Amino acid sequence: MSDQPAFSSTSLTTPPSPDASKTEHLLFKTSNLTHYRSSLLQGLELIETRMKTVNRPFSGILPRELARQFENLDLDRPCTGITEALAELDRLYLEDAVYFHHPHYTAHLNCPVTIPAITAELIQASFNTSVDTWDQSGGATFIEQRLIDWTAGRIGFGGDADGVFTSGGTQSNLMAMLLARDNLSQHLWQHSTRERGLHPDAHRFRIFCSEVSHFSIQKAAALLGLGYDAVVPVPFDDYYRMDVSALIQAVETTRTQGLLPLAVVATAGTTDFGSIDPVTPIAEISRREGMWLHVDAAYGCGLLTSSRHRHLLQGIEQADSVTVDYHKSFLQPVSCSALLVGNRHNLGCVTWHAEYLNPLCQREEGTPNLVDKSLQTTRRFDALKLWLTLRTHGPERLGDAFDQVIHLARQAYLLLLSDNDIEILHQPQLSTLVFRYRPDMAMSEPALDQLNQSIRKALMRSGEAMVAATRVHNRQYLKFTLLNPDTGIRDIQAVLRLIKRHGAEARSASSNESTLQPKEVAHVG
Ligand SMILES: *Cc1c(COP(=O)(O)O)cnc(C)c1O
Repeated sequence: MSDQPAFSSTSLTTPPSPDASKTEHLLFKTSNLTHYRSSLLQGLELIETRMKTVNRPFSGILPRELARQFENLDLDRPCTGITEALAELDRLYLEDAVYFHHPHYTAHLNCPVTIPAITAELIQASFNTSVDTWDQSGGATFIEQRLIDWTAGRIGFGGDADGVFTSGGTQSNLMAMLLARDNLSQHLWQHSTRERGLHPDAHRFRIFCSEVSHFSIQKAAALLGLGYDAVVPVPFDDYYRMDVSALIQAVETTRTQGLLPLAVVATAGTTDFGSIDPVTPIAEISRREGMWLHVDAAYGCGLLTSSRHRHLLQGIEQADSVTVDYHKSFLQPVSCSALLVGNRHNLGCVTWHAEYLNPLCQREEGTPNLVDKSLQTTRRFDALKLWLTLRTHGPERLGDAFDQVIHLARQAYLLLLSDNDIEILHQPQLSTLVFRYRPDMAMSEPALDQLNQSIRKALMRSGEAMVAATRVHNRQYLKFTLLNPDTGIRDIQAVLRLIKRHGAEARSASSNESTLQPKEVAHVG
């Protein structure tokens, strides 16, 4: 290593930017408040103008069409200022954004968001708080902690509960599986995975979850060195809930194979069906077998504030860990999510004391450093939006909104059931519906697959409505996911009409094609 410093003292005589005006309007600071306000107002105006023109959830643009607009964009040559940059953004982004507040958006688990939550986003972005340590956050740490405690209370956890905000259900599930793995390794072999890596027998661990649980469990198993093969899919019953006797069977089978049951994941609100696994009997089995019980309530957590349907979560308080996605069923902007645990000591396996950040001595002094229980270091103050929503409107309003979409799903179920051209797969527990267009019972399964796929594409191309698609028993279905309390049964009727219209069009187009087919076949032959 050279003993010379990397810079010479003469380089200090010329400052990098002699022209102070160049950075004049760059930063959020007291002397820039006037500019800050006018810039925000321009942004606000852009939002308002756009909102007034939005008359469908999507423009229908194709990726290759939109990609063209990005081709000649030179990021090294900025616009003349915020006005021009916003106008450009309107073309590149807002014109073709997907609008979740539109009542005809019925595709994925995306929600319209509360107004206080947006105000909170502005506040947290302005001050740029990071909730990893007390010395970067102050009161923000207590706001997050109180929301964790509040959520734990709603779950019904006792005084040892704790948790942390995460980037989403995927991270929460990963963390839950990590706690399960390290906890059982310690228990079985007094082996600290954190310090020594995987135990040689860890490849025998098995995680049980229903066949319709979320793929993030598989991802977590892979990341944790257990592999996809460690996940044992358990069959579901007629309502797409985990079949408890099949679980017992699966656990028994793994034992006889010399494998080690590690955890059960009960899903409270499956992504496709909104089905809720029977937590109470599953909890009993996991206790008996010494397995970790994780409840993935990424979607069903909305029930925590529901006055009508809270009972659907019965048994959740027996879990070792629970995933909640406020950005799905608490009407919060992405990201806003948490992992809760019944026993805070289990979070210790993600603790690392860094001298520069969260030294052990601080913990001993009682300084609350949330990084001690998080996979992330620098972390957004995502708790603030939920906080401001709750402090402005209270939890009941959120619960009512969730009850509203559950009610809508039931109305929509009856509507679809009464329609001869529609085949519906299940009675909804929450707010999704999986169905397909089937105008003719004689149509072959592959033809139905193609027909339903083309309906979804045509709908998206028109932008008039968005529905999701999924495969069940290897067949193509359509899906409504209802999270917008403003969507009414008339909206569902309208979307259904569109589905049937596009379905009829696709059918007549394909029958025209098939009359051409013999010629083509003859030609090829
Ligand atoms: C959405 C979802 C996840 C993943 O959550 P993200 O916030 O998208 O990471 C996990 N589990 C279930 C049941 C989900 O619906």
